[in-house]
Amino acid sequence: MRIPIIGVMLVSSLLASGPTLLGQEKSQKPDTPIEKWTGRTVMLIGAHADDDRLSHGTLALLQAQGNRVFVVTLTTGNVGTQDPKLSRTQLAEIRRNEELAALAELGIPGDHYINLGYDDGLLEFEDRKAVVENLVRLIRKLRPDVLFAWDPGKNFQRWHKSDHRAAAYLSADAARAAMWRLLFEGQITQEGLKEYMIPEYLFYNDYDYEDENIWVDISSVEGKVINAGAKYFSQFGPGWKNYNPNPSEAEVKQMKDDAQAHIRRKDGKAFEGFRYYRGLPDAIGK
Ligand SMILES: [Zn+2]
Repeated sequence: MRIPIIGVMLVSSLLASGPTLLGQEKSQKPDTPIEKWTGRTVMLIGAHADDDRLSHGTLALLQAQGNRVFVVTLTTGNVGTQDPKLSRTQLAEIRRNEELAALAELGIPGDHYINLGYDDGLLEFEDRKAVVENLVRLIRKLRPDVLFAWDPGKNFQRWHKSDHRAAAYLSADAARAAMWRLLFEGQITQEGLKEYMIPEYLFYNDYDYEDENIWVDISSVEGKVINAGAKYFSQFGPGWKNYNPNPSEAEVKQMKDDAQAHIRRKDGKAFEGFRYYRGLPDAIGK
């Protein structure tokens, strides 16, 4: 007689806690809407100068609202060109200048751009421990309230191009390592840093939006996003095949039109989407 009752109770208590057990990630929302965040430290990790482009609207909003925004790029972007005249050194310099120009359009100061200097295209073959150690140092120094990163995926992962999948995993690994006092202990005993756990995450993606659970209206900063997107001459414009440091007015207009066309829209509003996650880094992929 009692068994069915216990059974019913178990089922109902499971259902009662359903949102926690089943699909916690889908239901997670920040306590304060992103559009109202202020006074926070925001850190973005990407593989290349321009990976942050997927979040430019949200970064511009956060910057304008009085948050401290830092952009960390793992590689110098010194490989991605079809222009046979460019050397690695030239390309790295171009990519740095384009990134600084784009961030300036968003209002983000140049000294908030940090490039870790790894080679483009080979990130996953770098010494992973050293990359994570460098990222952990930055996390412990900047102590971000929120981390933007390539989504490392959950449950299973689809193939994603090499630097992006490496950056996704390295960012999550660094977020996890930063909270453990005895990992990279020298940073704490010798460099005066303290362990730190990033509490909130906004994971971005470029063509698989299935896991998005939060959308930010970026209509108010659309002009900044277009101007910033138009700075990447060597990546998206005619400079991809034949780089010219002084593009014509027509080429600049074409860049702006392309940047505008890349903005995602729904019901006439410009938006960016993310997978929002809050909690222990251990469960980022659950
Ligand atoms: Zn990239």
